[in-house]
Amino acid sequence: MQKSQQGCYNKVEETPPAAMEKLKSRIPESLTSQISHTSNPNTLAITCSSLLHFFNQLPRFHQMIEDLANKETSLFLKNKDSALELKIKGNNCFKNGDNANALHFYTQAAMEKLKSRIPESLTSQISHTSNPNTLPITCSSLLHFFNQLPLFRQMIEDLANKETSLFLKNKDSALELKIKGNNCFKNGDNANALHFYTQALRAAPRDVDDMGKNLVATLYVNRAAVLQKMGLLVESLQDCNRALAICRSYSKAWYRRGKANTSMGNYDDAVCDLKVSLCTEQSVSGKRQIEGELKLIAVQHNGKDFPPNVANYKDSVTNDQPQQIQLQCVSSETKGRGMVSLTDVPQATLLHSEEPYAAIVSKHCRETHCNFCFNELLADIVPCPSCSMALYCSQDCQIHARGLDLQHDTKSHEIGVELSSDLEKYVASVTEATVNDANIKQNAEHRHECGVNWPAALPAEVVLAGRVIVKSIEQHGKFGRSSTIVNLDLCHNYIQLNSEVKLELHISSIVLLKCLHNCYGSNVPLNGDTISQCVLLLSQINVNSMAIVRMRSSDTSGPRKSSGNLTTSTVEQVRVGQAIYLAGSMFNHSCQPNIHTYFLSRTLYIRTIDSVAARNPLELSYGPQVGQWSCNERQSSLEEQYAFVCCCTGCSQLNISDLVISSFRCSNLNCSGAVLDSHLVNHERRKVNPFHGSLPLQIGRLELDEVKRVASLLCESTGSENRIEPGFCLSCGAYRDVEASNAVVKKAELGVRRLEDSSQLSTNILSDALRSLDLLRSVLHPYNKKVAEVEDYLAQTFCSIGELQQARNHCQASIKILEKLYGHDHIVIGNELVKLASIQLPLGEPAFEKSRNLFKETPIELFIRTLELKDQ
Ligand SMILES: [Zn+2]
Ligand SMILES: [Zn+2]
Ligand SMILES: [Zn+2]
Ligand SMILES: [Zn+2]
Repeated sequence: MQKSQQGCYNKVEETPPAAMEKLKSRIPESLTSQISHTSNPNTLAITCSSLLHFFNQLPRFHQMIEDLANKETSLFLKNKDSALELKIKGNNCFKNGDNANALHFYTQAAMEKLKSRIPESLTSQISHTSNPNTLPITCSSLLHFFNQLPLFRQMIEDLANKETSLFLKNKDSALELKIKGNNCFKNGDNANALHFYTQALRAAPRDVDDMGKNLVATLYVNRAAVLQKMGLLVESLQDCNRALAICRSYSKAWYRRGKANTSMGNYDDAVCDLKVSLCTEQSVSGKRQIEGELKLIAVQHNGKDFPPNVANYKDSVTNDQPQQIQLQCVSSETKGRGMVSLTDVPQATLLHSEEPYAAIVSKHCRETHCNFCFNELLADIVPCPSCSMALYCSQDCQIHARGLDLQHDTKSHEIGVELSSDLEKYVASVTEATVNDANIKQNAEHRHECGVNWPAALPAEVVLAGRVIVKSIEQHGKFGRSSTIVNLDLCHNYIQLNSEVKLELHISSIVLLKCLHNCYGSNVPLNGDTISQCVLLLSQINVNSMAIVRMRSSDTSGPRKSSGNLTTSTVEQVRVGQAIYLAGSMFNHSCQPNIHTYFLSRTLYIRTIDSVAARNPLELSYGPQVGQWSCNERQSSLEEQYAFVCCCTGCSQLNISDLVISSFRCSNLNCSGAVLDSHLVNHERRKVNPFHGSLPLQIGRLELDEVKRVASLLCESTGSENRIEPGFCLSCGAYRDVEASNAVVKKAELGVRRLEDSSQLSTNILSDALRSLDLLRSVLHPYNKKVAEVEDYLAQTFCSIGELQQARNHCQASIKILEKLYGHDHIVIGNELVKLASIQLPLGEPAFEKSRNLFKETPIELFIRTLELKDQ
């Protein structure tokens, strides 16, 4: 079969005009010229018939007619919306040169199309497979059906064929980008020069020459020069090292390195670098320049050397070791497996740290974060040497992700000139790989993904499943030989999934295994058994994978961006990746967690938030927490995502937060009681164990009494006049018209939204918003979350127009509410205090002590420090 040059998905998904263009380009020159010279309508019949004859031989033409004329696969028939929408998204990405995302959308559209072809009988069989034991049957039927479809075969070809991959290296485009970089560099446009050199490195094949030098090495040296100009000396030095690792006798790289070391005050190293450069330099003028540089250093050096400040610049990860605390996995009837400690654990103890079994970067972070360690990419990005997709923060990460390649040919590794033994040692110390190669093979998660389309095209969870399977093959040999896929010993939620998701898992599994089969052959056999194991693996990943998050301290200015704006600092969590931690996933969820997870590089760390007594469950939050959402919202979100009904302390016992978070205020102005609507009352009544022991939330004596009282009211099932009813104050029993109050809330929300939507801030809109806040406060309970959100938004707005006192007041009002909802010690309060501090600093108010005392052991403290440094 004739293969198109660009392969991939444009065939199926491109817009008809593009497909026509492509057809046109295939027509032989002779025929084109024949057609263009047919001025006579009488000869038309001949050219038409020749063209038809030619087209009929083209598979591309057949597919196009199939796509255009087949009623069954029409985009306007089944799944019209999703397939068409996905296609348009793909086209937009393609236009913007974002191949990876274009590929993703095109593949999703193709999957939709595949789905629409599956016969009704098979779909219904799959949706009724509630039992994992019958999975192999449906999997094998679907595989059998797909194997007959040309659409499916073409899709796999496009996804798994290395030769037609979009991520192949390409010497021509690398050279083109290099020239662009050179031009920018000459014009002093460092930012763009950096960009083009990095793009050129992405495209450059490993072993091609460019004017007698290895192209990759040349590009690294060129980028080193830009980095040096930008004052990024450490990065510049790293790029020199990368060039020298490829080609030891590269005089210019040694020279660049010498310059970087000089600028950093590492004169001894600089002298060595320049001496090697002098020995390897061929031209007389070059030698003269280096000698000049050496003399200059002799003058500057003046006998003293500064300690090198380069070492381990990127290894800032602290070597935190968990204390010797014995954890045990226990099983309980209500919560299944969970973790406890055998001894009492004090607050803020590091309990556990763990490397992931498998991990993958989030799709939206592929270009901004290291694809291995998930740290943010700096200026000296290291692309994968064999494909143009993966990006890393360092050589180290790159090698861990792909494994150690065979060394470059030894010829370029010989320096070719006589050096003193000292210098020879120096050269070796600089150029020999410093990567610790233990465990490299196990971690080579990118190797099977390198240079094919499917890792960019398929959803991240599916690609992660691929990594798990490959790891399992490497550890245990053939995949699926026994009845266990990868013995991850994790729970799954296949039974609870809806039929749509079940079908999708079937399709994804078949596509993934087919792609892996292309690479691993009989080690990944394709049959009902192996596919059903993959389906279960995907559903294990659904339930057990953890989002790797980074705290990001970002300065957000308000909606208006006029000059001279002040900004508030916010600390937010960014999801950068997804991983399976085998032990980490044994910890159960609680909406009032007593342990906290965080990540440094790929490592998971777990610390206690409170002190936890021996044998008490250690529980973290999978997302929703008391104070963040109402009980109802928490439970439905958990049920949807993780398929369990939460019965944590927060969801089974009364707490202040759930009572007030979405309640109304008492109509009696002197009463601080809360009024609940019927929905909330019903929900709180369902809490099986209204009040039990001490509350984990740090609440005052008064509030504790209040909760106890509410609990006793809730428990009275009949008769009492004090019984909790929707619309009546929990404290004094006064009535509030909940429906009318809701109407007031809606009106107030409109006023706030006008502020959010307006591009020009007028005093009218601002005072409107302030009136809306008053309205909200007149009907909502003082601790209602909505009030906190509006206060926070007003704080940001006032900050953006420089009215700091107002900003501070609103920020403090918001924090006061959040402290009631979350408790004083909650990490969210720490984040809010950072924000408050960023407002108070320019006002000259001390704010840090409080924040710092609260969060001694958490990453928050780092950010508070960053903030201080920045503002000094
Ligand atoms: Zn990295
Ligand atoms: Zn690669
Ligand atoms: Zn809960
Ligand atoms: Zn009241």
